[in-house]
Amino acid sequence: MEMTPERMERYDRQLGLPGFGSRGQQLLAEASVLVIGAGGLGSPAIRYLAGAGIGRIGIVDSDTVDLSNLHRQTLYTMADVGESKAVAAAAVVRAVNPDTLAVPVIACVDEVSAPDIVAGWDIVLDASDTFQTRYVVSDACWRAGVPVVEAGIGGYFGQVMTIVPGPDAACYRCVFPEAPAPDPSGRRPPVLGPVAGVIGCMQAIEAIKLAIGYGDTLAGRLMFGDFSTFDLSVGEVPKRPGCTLCGDPG
Ligand SMILES: [Zn+2]
Repeated sequence: MEMTPERMERYDRQLGLPGFGSRGQQLLAEASVLVIGAGGLGSPAIRYLAGAGIGRIGIVDSDTVDLSNLHRQTLYTMADVGESKAVAAAAVVRAVNPDTLAVPVIACVDEVSAPDIVAGWDIVLDASDTFQTRYVVSDACWRAGVPVVEAGIGGYFGQVMTIVPGPDAACYRCVFPEAPAPDPSGRRPPVLGPVAGVIGCMQAIEAIKLAIGYGDTLAGRLMFGDFSTFDLSVGEVPKRPGCTLCGDPG
């Protein structure tokens, strides 16, 4: 990617960062990031990844924009209600940065579709909003060897964990072995809008660091934040012997 005067201006505020410069910008341009879920987590993540100059952003979502989404899903406005989230989000990416190729994927992510959906991407951000999808995505990424940035939110809480598959790495199931049973009422738990925003931003930070190979990511670690008190902690996540996904099958 040639650093034209326009790109020098576009990326002016990040080019001077450690790990960036024209080399870092080139790495971002060559990187592909798949964001699964264009909701409360995906909205800020997608917007910041486009701003940073990620070369290709895949946006997976089968839903349309609801009025109840606007309290936290910052990519959308009233004009988008009823539209496909993946398509509307891709339009924002194109409007922000012509260097970024936006790839909308209108698909349900399940055990059957997940392996094909995550294949071929450098990094996956799991910005889905159900436990079921999260386990499907983390399992598929582990098996495909694709780094995934997992996140979860609820109420005033949020957590982020990055998984870079490898023989010594812990997987998502090392920490959370099985998905909890779904709420029989089918109701979604309440969440403070900006908590989704800050956790989605953390996922974007992780993706950018993974793409340029700078800093210490949350690989092998879990960030947990209670934003009602601002108690934030980062703890090591050991590989769990006997893990059903990454453990020794023997
Ligand atoms: Zn494991």
